[in-house]
Amino acid sequence: MNQAVLISQGNELTTGQTVDTNAAWLCRRLWELGFEVRRIITAPDQLSEIVEVISQARSLAPVVIMTGGLGPTRDDLSAQALSDALDSRLVEDPTALNHVQRYFERRNRAMSAANRKQAWIPEGCQALPNQQGSAPGIVYQSNEAFFCCLPGVPHEMRALFDDEVVPRLQPFQLDDPPVRHIIRVLGMPESKLEECLAELGPTPFEVGFRASIPSHEVKLRFSSQISAEERNKWVQRVRERIGPRAFGVDCEDLATIVGSLLKQRGETLAVAESCTAGRLASWITSVPGSSQYLMEGAVVYSNAAKVRCCGVPEAVIDTQGAVSAPVARALAHGIRMHASTTWGVGITGIAGPGGARPGKPVGTVHIAVNGPSYAYEHRYQFSGERDQVVRKSTAEAMYQLYRALISEDSGDPLI
Ligand code: AMP
Ligand code: MG
Repeated sequence: MNQAVLISQGNELTTGQTVDTNAAWLCRRLWELGFEVRRIITAPDQLSEIVEVISQARSLAPVVIMTGGLGPTRDDLSAQALSDALDSRLVEDPTALNHVQRYFERRNRAMSAANRKQAWIPEGCQALPNQQGSAPGIVYQSNEAFFCCLPGVPHEMRALFDDEVVPRLQPFQLDDPPVRHIIRVLGMPESKLEECLAELGPTPFEVGFRASIPSHEVKLRFSSQISAEERNKWVQRVRERIGPRAFGVDCEDLATIVGSLLKQRGETLAVAESCTAGRLASWITSVPGSSQYLMEGAVVYSNAAKVRCCGVPEAVIDTQGAVSAPVARALAHGIRMHASTTWGVGITGIAGPGGARPGKPVGTVHIAVNGPSYAYEHRYQFSGERDQVVRKSTAEAMYQLYRALISEDSGDPLI
């Protein structure tokens, strides 16, 4: 794999005001193009620092991509830094000037003197037209090296990278980039995943993990020498090793998968949420066209709401508590009846930090799925702070709904 270094530039990054999403996006794109990112360097708006990191980056990899610092203000120093690092003069570039002028003409706005600065680029470099903003990009290209400065504004950076940089990177790309498959897994700790993979023994791929809630990703990276058949065999082996919580390979979000299953089956859904307060409904409706199957989502936070919206018997709440198995079951069944849907989901739990009861610590959550001749209910003990408990509950509820939909024998609760 050919190597690249990224430089993320700006005080907003080094002071924590802006999260460096540009580097994350570029890393993904570069990976797809067959580049390995050797380093991501973040530098403040200080000329000497930027010159230093440019020189350092160039000594590390043939391809260097810098974002930020191309604006009209005095703290935008990328062009100056690049000219210092290349030991070349900063000159006004007619193409870049034309581009900046046209940008303002199209918007019927006067171009200020400060914007003229954006047309100055180091001699020997080329300006890259930025269709979405005033700052042209800058590229320096030789047989051995490629360097570019892109704007910091994410959508401008992305468009300029795809339109202008990708074609220029071709000479630096290797013919056979590795192939990656991503197995998505829900609700399994990372340590368990590691164990599953260790049990496989020697494998012809590199493994990477991305842990997040709701789903983990296990990334298998194969050399291009390995045939597709061999790759598939290994991917299936890993998937089987992990078990049913590995819900897909190179697949979409679980909400999309659940939505497709419901559409295929012509079925509908309603959800009654207490501790997740609408997060499950929100996730389900992040999928376009979800109105075809999600009929209703109720946030039944109070006991009264549980009784009124889902017909949970008051006596059950009084005797068992609002966070209990019978209440979760009654929520799932009740919302299903109330909304006349095929499926109902009920979630009730203690997200914390307060609200713990004897025998019911923070993180106690009951999740129920109810369908025609299907009734699942389980008590979970989730760890973490309030938001983590809520996210884990939401993810688990989605997963249990998914399991209910793919279950062959829908009469049997799957635990
Ligand atoms: P600049 O080109 O340095 O003037 O940056 C313009 C704006 O782009 C900044 O104010 C940030 O909001 C945004 N920005 C700059 N660098 C990044 C980055 N690495 N990731 C995300 N946003 C960024
Ligand atoms: Mg800046």
